[in-house]
Amino acid sequence: MPIDATQPYDPDNIFAKILRGEIPNETVYEDEHVLAFKDINPQAPIHVLVIPKGDYVSWDDFSARASDVEIGHFVRKVGEIARDLDLVEPGYRLLANIGGHGHQEVPHLHVHLFGGRPLGPMLARI
Ligand code: AMP
Repeated sequence: MPIDATQPYDPDNIFAKILRGEIPNETVYEDEHVLAFKDINPQAPIHVLVIPKGDYVSWDDFSARASDVEIGHFVRKVGEIARDLDLVEPGYRLLANIGGHGHQEVPHLHVHLFGGRPLGPMLARI
C-alpha cells in the first residue's frame, strides 16, 4: 500500500532494518551516509536502490530537512554509482516515488536506479 509522505519517520520500516543489519541486502555501494543495494524485485536488468542513512521519509522530507552537505553528497553518490555501473552510455533512469499518487511503499527515501535495457517511455499511460 502507498504511504502518506507526511507521516513521521517510522524506525521499523524495512530499509531502516536493512541499515541496522537486521535484514540482509545485496550491497552495491556503502559509505558513512549512503547505502545502495539491489532491489529485491527488479524491474530491469539493473535495479538499484540508493538511500541516505539519515531518517528521511521521502524526497519531500529530505529536500526540506537534510543539510546542503547531505543533499550534495547523496546526489553526487547517485551519479557516481551509475557511472561505476557503466550506465551513463547507454543511459539509465532515476525515479523517486513520493506519497500516495507517487505509489511510494517504503517510508524511507530511496531513489530507484534502472538500467541495462531500453526503458521505454517514462509512464505507460496518462
Ligand atoms: P517504492 O514503491 O518506491 O516505495 O519502492 C519500494 C521498493 O523496495 C520496491 O521496488 C521493492 O521491490 C523494494 N524492496 C522492498 N523490500 C526490499 C528488500 N528487503 N530489499 C530490497 N528491495 C526491497
